[in-house]
Amino acid sequence: MADRERAPETRAIREQVKTTAQREHSVPLFLTSSFVFDSAEQARALFADEIPGNVYSRYSNPNAEELVRKLCAMEGAQDGLATASGMAAVFAVFASLLSTGDHLVAGRALFGSTHQLLTRVLPRWGIEHTYVDVEATDDDWLRAIRPSTKLVFVETPSNPGLALIDLEMVSGICRERGVLLVVDNCFTTPYLQQPIRFGADLVVHSATKFIDGQGRTLGGAVLGPEELIGECRYFIRHTGPSISPFNAWVLSKSLETLAVRMDRHCESSLGFAQHFEGHAELERVLYPFLPSHPQHELARKQMSAGGGIVALILKGGLDRARRFLDGLDLLSHSPNLGDTRTIVTHPASTTHSKLSGEERQRVGITPGMVRVSVGLERLDDIVEDVEQALARSR
Ligand SMILES: *Cc1c(COP(=O)(O)O)cnc(C)c1O
Repeated sequence: MADRERAPETRAIREQVKTTAQREHSVPLFLTSSFVFDSAEQARALFADEIPGNVYSRYSNPNAEELVRKLCAMEGAQDGLATASGMAAVFAVFASLLSTGDHLVAGRALFGSTHQLLTRVLPRWGIEHTYVDVEATDDDWLRAIRPSTKLVFVETPSNPGLALIDLEMVSGICRERGVLLVVDNCFTTPYLQQPIRFGADLVVHSATKFIDGQGRTLGGAVLGPEELIGECRYFIRHTGPSISPFNAWVLSKSLETLAVRMDRHCESSLGFAQHFEGHAELERVLYPFLPSHPQHELARKQMSAGGGIVALILKGGLDRARRFLDGLDLLSHSPNLGDTRTIVTHPASTTHSKLSGEERQRVGITPGMVRVSVGLERLDDIVEDVEQALARSR
């Protein structure tokens, strides 16, 4: 009972696999592909799903279960599943809930591989999609939904344009039309935003980013009501995108420090954004918790802090952005995000290079945009490196 009143951050630290006969304090790694049966009757009952318990690590594993229990506590979800990567989670949702002839609606600003799934993979099975622009009104969302629409998929804030989608508005429309709302909550983590509170049905995560937080392992999760998770569980058990016990163990440990890391990512990101706002070498700085962000009020409503990503729009376009990246001394130039180390990425020429120029324009990715995943280094060292690279690239 007391458990229900404890804060999600506390539960992310205290939810734990039952201690073994060794009385260890830190949870061990259950590096085992299968589990032994106490009796023929137990084996039969486990396979018949009459009793809970581990059978085989493609089905379940104590480390994976612990990770899921912590994520459920933080998201306010009833049930969940851990997967080998964020994309495995996204695909498991589509493959579990959609059939030939079904249609889905998605916010246009999507992670690159999710865009590939919608445009290249799902059409092979006769599943179509409609994109809705980032600044869409409720009428635009309503118009996109067809009788064959089964789900709506969104990311908020978007990567890398940091545009927000009003979760309460979209979930209201989904409920009215009997369509499921699935939210990719990777950018904010369950610590800063809980989409289920705003009416989302399912939440997916790439745990590879802030949840790991140290750039080490891939992982993902799907969270939501028991019935929908049951459908995803069937698909995952029999097709195999299950998480490895080692990655689940790393990610579960990482969740114990998520709140303190995110507090620092958010504090430094806001300080970074404030420092560079109005800078003579920049056209613009985008960060959800800057009052100048066009959806600042919505950000305050659905996020408890602004997150760890800032977008800088450099004066001088593509050539300037390239010189800027080559002029960095301390910061990493890499496609990842959500690491202890600050990472700078040029979306137009890397992560979003497969989009056409027009598609990039529609999701706010300009040639001079760089995405900064603000890390845990001292803020003045991060600022100083960006300042010197801006000066050198002039
Ligand atoms: C990285 C990312 C994914 C994919 O996650 P992987 O763990 O790399 O498979 C999905 N959605 C968003 C928003 C991401 O940033």
